[in-house]
Amino acid sequence: MAGNWKMHFNIKESTHLANDLAKAVLGMDDREVVIAPVFTSLAAVTQAVSSSGIKVAAQNSFYKEKGAYTGEITNAMLKDTGCTYVILGHSERRTIFMEDDGLINLKIKAAINSGLDPIFCIGETKEEYDAGLTFNVIERQITLGLSGINSNKLSGLVLAYEPVWAIGTGLTATPEQAQDIHKLIRGLFKKKYNNEVAKNLRIIYGGSVKPSNIDQLMIQLDIDGVLVGGASLDVESFSRIAGFIKT
Ligand code: PEP
Repeated sequence: MAGNWKMHFNIKESTHLANDLAKAVLGMDDREVVIAPVFTSLAAVTQAVSSSGIKVAAQNSFYKEKGAYTGEITNAMLKDTGCTYVILGHSERRTIFMEDDGLINLKIKAAINSGLDPIFCIGETKEEYDAGLTFNVIERQITLGLSGINSNKLSGLVLAYEPVWAIGTGLTATPEQAQDIHKLIRGLFKKKYNNEVAKNLRIIYGGSVKPSNIDQLMIQLDIDGVLVGGASLDVESFSRIAGFIKT
């Protein structure tokens, strides 16, 4: 159950929310809760949640180990703050910062090699959805994004299916629509790798997840969790999401 705080909150605000969240998710030991603050808050947030079981993710990283790459940050520097995950391939990185499948592949490889678990985001745009290209797009993103990565390196990977048309728009794929795509994704991993990899892969859904739709999403067989933007910025709504009720 991952919250992507995007470009919100300074150190004081992030720490405050992290502390509140740590209290709110106390006892939720059968699920993993992850929060992704901005770079400048990573160390403080990691410290704030250290005894709570909440894990921390960075929102991006670069694939080089050091050098003249103004404005970039390495996986080792991120690990140094105490975080364990890194979100890569988010649609905002793809569309606003022009990240393509090749660059995302380099970033995923570098993150895995440094010991960070990638939360690898994929998903089709509204135009691609309308044109019936959803599966072609996600197959391409998975194939190119994970190119050259051996199946024994995939145990920590989390795959986030986020239809771009559902991100921050209030539109959500229905639980059944999301389930259908997640099932296709798991099938693709079975075909590309093996049954074991497919079975163990955590496939999470993102796109306008809210307290009002979380329970229906989480009863779907192939939905293992969610990646939440807007609704993760508020302790009440995110703790309700993290505390989903499985019926
Ligand atoms: C996201 O940006 O990953 C996301 C899912 O955002 P939202 O929940 O606001 O749609």
